[in-house]
Amino acid sequence: RSDDEEITVVEPSQGKPPVTHDSIVNLDHGDPTMYKGFWRKTGNRATIAIPGWQMMSYFSDLSGFCWFLEPGFEREVRRLHRLVGNAVVDGYHLLVGTGSTQLFQAAIYALSPAEDGTPMSVVSPAPYYSSYPSVTNFLNSGLYRWDGDANTFEGSNSIELVCSPNNPDGGIRKAVITSKSGKTIHDFAYYWPQYAPITETAAHDIMMFTVSKCTGHAGTRIGWALVKDTEVAQKMIKFIELNTIGVSKDSQLRAAKILKAICDGYELLPIGEANRLFHFAQQKMAERWSKLRATVAASGIFSLPNQFSGYCTFAKETVTANPPFAWLRCHKDGVEDLEAFLRKHKIFTRGGPRFGVDGRVVRVSMLDTDEAFNVFIDRVASMK
Ligand code: PMP
Repeated sequence: RSDDEEITVVEPSQGKPPVTHDSIVNLDHGDPTMYKGFWRKTGNRATIAIPGWQMMSYFSDLSGFCWFLEPGFEREVRRLHRLVGNAVVDGYHLLVGTGSTQLFQAAIYALSPAEDGTPMSVVSPAPYYSSYPSVTNFLNSGLYRWDGDANTFEGSNSIELVCSPNNPDGGIRKAVITSKSGKTIHDFAYYWPQYAPITETAAHDIMMFTVSKCTGHAGTRIGWALVKDTEVAQKMIKFIELNTIGVSKDSQLRAAKILKAICDGYELLPIGEANRLFHFAQQKMAERWSKLRATVAASGIFSLPNQFSGYCTFAKETVTANPPFAWLRCHKDGVEDLEAFLRKHKIFTRGGPRFGVDGRVVRVSMLDTDEAFNVFIDRVASMK
């Protein structure tokens, strides 16, 4: 046996079943399998191997600010933000989490309760990401509670979740609550060049990112937060310490290697589609959006939010936004529940009520495989 064989890798689990022309197409979750095509071509540049005796300790960096943060991961995250220019990193603490889902919980914990000891109100303008209410309320905490649409919120002591580009509708957002007692968490899961023009280097108090939507490695379960205030960052670290005693080192190493492959692809390797992740994904998304817009325009019963463009400081040209989800509205008489209507056509989506709005609209993932996306397009084309 050669060394190569011994290193050889894991038996992959299958994930979702393959899609055929008459099977169910599940576009309910934003499962980013579209990215596989890029990573298949990067060869060993994004592969890691960990010998059985390594990475065993709980601890990553006992002398650092965050003891469970792998220094190599931190280095590549800061490098990536400097390359893309989407967020300021100097003067910020960097924290790692088991997906940005864990960091979101750590952040609302760190910002609660209000000064008078009452629960903070967690809000976001509708349509808001459907996980915000469920994750906020599932432990029935006395520290904070979900309080719905930020546009109609009249109280004080709020934590506003600012998701931009927004899940589900792709809108570019700024905080709507300006009161002094109000705090914000910026969810920048989709503030990457393939989804929207990079128009400013963001510098907010808490900014959250995730490899899930940046590189497509949702199963690695790695997110990060840039946090300005030291005390808030320390409370977030405490939450993750009590919740999961840190974050998988194996996953952080893998994420570091993936982010390094992206940065190297722009900074060190020859220009070419196989090396440039954001260009690959941007082009793929643009093709899908143009197909979907043409199909919707021909249908006569559906509509989509207007498309918009802007000057992207990363691409150094004006680009059109390609949101990660289609926010699809139906105008056909009698269709009050579009999710149920599409389900009859074996298309699974997520209905408006989960995002705090009406049922004539659904969210459809644009990040799935080519097969699933093309079957979805064919079925929409056949609906009148
Ligand atoms: N924020 C937004 C807006 C999302 O859409 C998602 C994933 N659907 C997340 C956060 C969570 O991402 P993860 O936990 O995979 O990092």
